[in-house]
Amino acid sequence: MVREIVRDTALLRQPSLPATRKDGKAADDLLATLKAHAADCVGMAANMIGITKRIVAVRTGQAYLLLLNPVITARSPETYLAEEGCLSLDGVRPVRRHAWIEVTYCDRKFKRKQQRFTGLAAQIVQHEMDHLEGILI
Ligand SMILES: [Zn+2]
Repeated sequence: MVREIVRDTALLRQPSLPATRKDGKAADDLLATLKAHAADCVGMAANMIGITKRIVAVRTGQAYLLLLNPVITARSPETYLAEEGCLSLDGVRPVRRHAWIEVTYCDRKFKRKQQRFTGLAAQIVQHEMDHLEGILI
């Protein structure tokens, strides 16, 4: 189910709780909402649709990926300055990102995965994982 986008920064600044096996529907809704905004959005965290659980949906190229309880286990020493927008916020803002990150997470079936993200995908995942901590650009 496609849900409304939360723009209340007081809500968005609350850290999210761990996702559980009962959050499958929340993950499906997040993916559906991201796909509905495919024209202007490449990633979304669950609190952007009012669910304060540690779930992130990203689009990398043509593929969509759900990450439940993602944790960054390694990151590049080198960083760069990016400009990012956010569907929950107005405008574009400068932010510093790592060139690559390694992340462990659970997939939709709660199978544990590990993946290295580079370039734009790494940037998107870092942005969405910040949302889980209540960090806004
Ligand atoms: Zn955002």
